[in-house]
Amino acid sequence: MAAHPPAVSASFARAPVVGSVAGMAMELRDSHGRVMRDLRVSVTDRCNFRCLYCLPETEEAANFYRTRWAGSNGGLPAARPIAYEWKPRSELLSFEEIERVVRLAAALGIDKVRVTGGEPLLRQGVESLVASLAGIPGVRDLAMTTNGFLFASKARSLRDAGLQRVSFSMDSLDPANFRRMTGRDGLAGVLEGIRMAKDLGLAPVKVNAVVIRGMNDHEVEDLAAFARDEDLSLRFIEFMPLDSSRAWQRDLVVTGAEIVARLQSRWGLVRVHAPDRPSETARRWSFPDGRGEVGVIAPVSEPFCGHCNRLRLTADGKVRTCLFSLVEHDLRPLLRGGGTDSDIMRRLVEIVAGKEAGHRIGKPDFVQPARTMSCIGG
Ligand code: SAM
Ligand code: SF4
Repeated sequence: MAAHPPAVSASFARAPVVGSVAGMAMELRDSHGRVMRDLRVSVTDRCNFRCLYCLPETEEAANFYRTRWAGSNGGLPAARPIAYEWKPRSELLSFEEIERVVRLAAALGIDKVRVTGGEPLLRQGVESLVASLAGIPGVRDLAMTTNGFLFASKARSLRDAGLQRVSFSMDSLDPANFRRMTGRDGLAGVLEGIRMAKDLGLAPVKVNAVVIRGMNDHEVEDLAAFARDEDLSLRFIEFMPLDSSRAWQRDLVVTGAEIVARLQSRWGLVRVHAPDRPSETARRWSFPDGRGEVGVIAPVSEPFCGHCNRLRLTADGKVRTCLFSLVEHDLRPLLRGGGTDSDIMRRLVEIVAGKEAGHRIGKPDFVQPARTMSCIGG
């Protein structure tokens, strides 16, 4: 039992699943009134891809950025690249530790859980983690984000374990451009994974494409046509400053508005409204014939922080309240140091209370986080 009442807002009114410590009902409400429902769980910081916008370590990625930066800064980004090393296994949360955090977060109102990474399918036995997360009371939506390279071989066991939905990352439909963007000759494998997800009913299947000017922006229409042909949902994502090279620049961002205008002029899309889901990050459109859907996720040009209900747990046990947080909150001392369930719940509530109002991209005081998207968990 907690010795002191938590320094957090308490609510008896609304959430269907709300934990209680010391007789006080608690939920994950921040100081701006936002209630957390969505937890992204990174299960590894490792990856088998080297995406240009995340871990751009290939010669081609270096060349791309060198030419883009040539005019503005002598060919070099202003800040030094992020030096990172894979975390040793001992620092990663075990499946039991992850399951415990998710169970306690679910008792505090989290009902959407997304398994991510790094590349989540690189974590051995991830199916058994999925099975245990699927059994947690209160988790009504269990999804995964993957680059898809290994998905086809694991799809059935993931579905049988209780995975409900999957989002793939696929930035190009041209094998050569795909390799330039990801550092891997992997397009055929990803397409196979997408097909498999559809066949197994892991619906709705979503495909995410990060659009970078001068790299894959010429493929926007082809990607949208793919969504229509395959009757799936394609989300165009604005490039965010979360890359290991710190090579992001505003000019490389293709805005959501620009993408929508291009697609509109080609297809005459129909806006899909979801007034019941204000925290949804994507603005969505359907094609006139009703097959497939496109969306834009525009955190740079049209931030949606005011409705953010997301939290992140990194593979090494840090809670992040924003993609762009400069502070991380380590749960491992509690998890490995005998913390009780109440201790952990109170800690989660305290952490959420301090969630940032929003990101600072484009503001003079913006500072890129010390870790890349692959470590943070997208
Ligand atoms: N490896 C898996 C994948 O790529 O789907 C899961 C982790 S990845 C970090 C999650 C998502 O973050 C992907 O959809 C990826 O496209 C996106 N992402 C990574 N770096 C990004 C950046 N700098 N800007 C925008 N999106 C990014
Ligand atoms: Fe790996 Fe995903 Fe980052 Fe690409 S976006 S490097 S697949 S973690």
